[in-house]
Amino acid sequence: MQRILPRGEIEALDHNNIPRLIAPVRAEVFRLRAARLRHLAQDNAIGDYLRLVAVLAEAQHAALADCRTPAVDAQRIALAQAHGMAPVAAGDIPRDPAWRDILLQVLDRLDAAAGVPAPARAISADLRLSVRDDPEGLDRAAAALVGEGGGQIDVATAPFLMAALQVYATDQACRFDAGQLPVVSPYGLCPVCGSLPVASVVRVGGQQEGYRYLCCALCSTQWHVVRVKCTTCEETKDVAYQGIEAPGRAPEKEAARAETCESCHTYRKIFSQDKDYDVDPIADDLATLGLDVLVGEAGYQRASGNPFLWQGDDEARE
Ligand SMILES: [Zn+2]
Ligand SMILES: [Zn+2]
Repeated sequence: MQRILPRGEIEALDHNNIPRLIAPVRAEVFRLRAARLRHLAQDNAIGDYLRLVAVLAEAQHAALADCRTPAVDAQRIALAQAHGMAPVAAGDIPRDPAWRDILLQVLDRLDAAAGVPAPARAISADLRLSVRDDPEGLDRAAAALVGEGGGQIDVATAPFLMAALQVYATDQACRFDAGQLPVVSPYGLCPVCGSLPVASVVRVGGQQEGYRYLCCALCSTQWHVVRVKCTTCEETKDVAYQGIEAPGRAPEKEAARAETCESCHTYRKIFSQDKDYDVDPIADDLATLGLDVLVGEAGYQRASGNPFLWQGDDEARE
């Protein structure tokens, strides 16, 4: 529902005023991601996996449509404002059994979809058994994924659990009133849920024209961070951009580049809507693994992972 802005706020919406947050749009976020994944799956080395994540995104879209998680309570918002914390506690999500209901909805859609590979169907069946027989174990696995409790991460089930956790967190973010955010949030973390970003997007259109937004890997919120600044250590000097040269095209023409930092030797990808309007931070990140190989070989570490691609515990993401 569109909010009607009071008079003072309408006047404040001038073009010198960069919107701090772009909240996820319930009807769009996962639907557009699914479409993007299907588009990127054509001629991609991991096309089958992108199509599976597209099925998950479609399931997420359906689950989000009638998702109603409890509103963030006033006490938590007051605490967040007093201490510059994220008002939505990502670590609390696995404590609400509702996240497992969302997981079951996602699995229902997955099981009903055509073309899902047998190994994914087997994982879905195992997860259903876990929901029934070991809900606490599943909660612990979910807590490890949102950075709580330090439990082991099972790389096979992680994308499915993340799909459900994203729906929960995105429901919270869709309804969160940005006016209740603390004035200052910790640098490099999502101001709404405190999670790490997956990548950033330089946007076109409206008040966001030409501005760069970091994209939360969990709650789908996007938040403004100035360009040419390391999104990990805040350094502005020696930030550089690497792209993959496609035949007959200069790297700067590519929508996907890696923003590397000489100070902390990390990188995150940055996608440009003016080169490809439909970029999606999670989908395009997954579809450009060649860029990770390129910058990895050049000695840079990925600053944070993709929720649909996990590494074993010995290479645990930060
Ligand atoms: Zn977030
Ligand atoms: Zn840095």
